[in-house]
Amino acid sequence: MAQETRHHEHSGAQAARSGMGGAVWGVTVPVVIAGPCAVESAAQMEAVASRLKEMGVRVLRGGAFKARTAADSFQGLREEGVNLLAQAGRKFGMLTISEVLDCRHAGFVAERVDILQVGSRNMYNYELLKELAKTGKPVFLKRSFMATLDEFAHAAEYLLKGRGEVALCERGIRTFEAAMRNTLDIMAVPIMKERLGLPVFVDVSHSTGRAALVAPAAKAAIAVGADGIMVEVHPQPANALSDNYQQLSIEQFSELLEVL
Ligand code: PEP
Ligand code: MN
Repeated sequence: MAQETRHHEHSGAQAARSGMGGAVWGVTVPVVIAGPCAVESAAQMEAVASRLKEMGVRVLRGGAFKARTAADSFQGLREEGVNLLAQAGRKFGMLTISEVLDCRHAGFVAERVDILQVGSRNMYNYELLKELAKTGKPVFLKRSFMATLDEFAHAAEYLLKGRGEVALCERGIRTFEAAMRNTLDIMAVPIMKERLGLPVFVDVSHSTGRAALVAPAAKAAIAVGADGIMVEVHPQPANALSDNYQQLSIEQFSELLEVL
């Protein structure tokens, strides 16, 4: 993708860049970021990355430092997980994205993966945002499940003080509705695009919480002009160590791409 500069109107923040040294966000075709919720093993990453690559996916996700609600849940493979993700990315020629949970891990992750993710629970962690801005790496900022769009925009401004590119991700908010894990606030896409001029993605997995709802959410995301989607894909969702209800199997993901 050709380098291009995007300007946004918000005061105080510098222009965000899109291009990322060879293609990620802001292109005319929606970007699909896919991969497992969590990196679990070398074999799992090999199984999923090889198939995603064949399907044309350019950005591979995999959580290594996992923010889990329950202390007894799988917490991720941490440094080893980052290394396994990076290894799969190198082997299959894909860009990689992984969450940084804490300032202490920022340098380690930044040296190994292409895009740093800020998770929903950390959107308000301004010290982490400042630390990530310093790395100069592209940052993928997820909306807190309880953030207003104004707060989301202010969090993005912390990142825009750095040199790296910034993309936003709507991942659902907490409402009174219990039929879904979160409520996908689809209008966040056009509103945030207009407000900051940054690429806006939709995480169609965490916003819905169920594999059956991923395709409708993805269609809605594309229809409202999202720059891309993030989808959790696992070689065996039923056996996944986290988020097994919402991860798509490789076959389900392939069907989703056809529909889109
Ligand atoms: C994730 O994408 O791995 C994740 C934990 O999502 P969120 O921060 O949106 O809950
Ligand atoms: Mn997950």
